[in-house]
Amino acid sequence: MKRTLIERLNKGPVICAEGFLFEIEKRGYMSAGEFVPMVALENPDALENLHKDYQHAGSDIVLAFTYNGHREKMREMDKEDLLEPLNRAALQIAKKVANNPIGNEKNLMAGNISHSNIWEKDNKESHFQAEKMFTEMVEWAVEEGADLIMGETFFYAEEAYKALEVIKKSGLPSVINLAPMAENFMQDGISIVETCIELEQRGADVIGMNCFRGPATMMPYLKKIRKEIDCHMSALPLPFRTTHENPTYFSLPDNNGCTCHAPSGKTFPTALDPMYCNRYEIRTFFEEAYQIGINFLGVCCGATPMHQREAAEAAGLTVPASKYRESKMRGTIANNPMYEN
Ligand SMILES: [Zn+2]
Repeated sequence: MKRTLIERLNKGPVICAEGFLFEIEKRGYMSAGEFVPMVALENPDALENLHKDYQHAGSDIVLAFTYNGHREKMREMDKEDLLEPLNRAALQIAKKVANNPIGNEKNLMAGNISHSNIWEKDNKESHFQAEKMFTEMVEWAVEEGADLIMGETFFYAEEAYKALEVIKKSGLPSVINLAPMAENFMQDGISIVETCIELEQRGADVIGMNCFRGPATMMPYLKKIRKEIDCHMSALPLPFRTTHENPTYFSLPDNNGCTCHAPSGKTFPTALDPMYCNRYEIRTFFEEAYQIGINFLGVCCGATPMHQREAAEAAGLTVPASKYRESKMRGTIANNPMYEN
């Protein structure tokens, strides 16, 4: 038995772990900055292991790691000939893990498309090219047995609409996540909330936000969106302490102000470690998200399995990794006077 995405969301929380880019990089199988998901071809075991770790942490959806594995990026990296093999390999690995659940019910496998990097406002040719990129990736996902398609990190409203249009043609459930830049507006001048209202009218099944923002700068928008739309919503923040001054991780001061390793604007932020949310901050975010009626939950770039477990437990779930959550100290360490108040 395998319920559909909507059946599951109607029943309660559904966990979709993300953050493959950062976690695979941290595990030593990907270059920061380049961020081409070659791991599906070069080290498939490493990718499968991360999927399994997320599954253990409670992920109900196995999201194929094809983020950035689109034609524009592959062309830029001189790897266009590997575009289709890479996509199919990532989808097959995700499908394999989804079909081998820890519990009785199979997981759902999700295909993945994201902002194209080429979309420009009022540039019809760029829209046409982006549509082609979305279409080929969605077709491969359908052929490899995806149960839903997630379109994500859109910062142009019109690009999100186009992605939705392509996904809807496939007949699979659609999840559309926005990732507005620091202006707190979509780049084509449409407000975040208006974009979500329009996406709902155009028939998106799940609408929300992912990536770019941590709990503090995502939650205010989720609350506004929740008041305006009736369909299911998604929330997949970064586990970083973004602030009113620096609403996205792109603008967070790296390494507590030290710019020696990753000067802003020159390389990708790779020294965000001091800005990590702890598990309790993550828990607070997801408790609130679930409470306001958001059922599609997960943590994006920077997440470890611990964060995913916390998201699941915040929504009231007990997952395989719950067995190993922190407990009261026992034995010799607890008896050490060092730990006395
Ligand atoms: Zn992300």
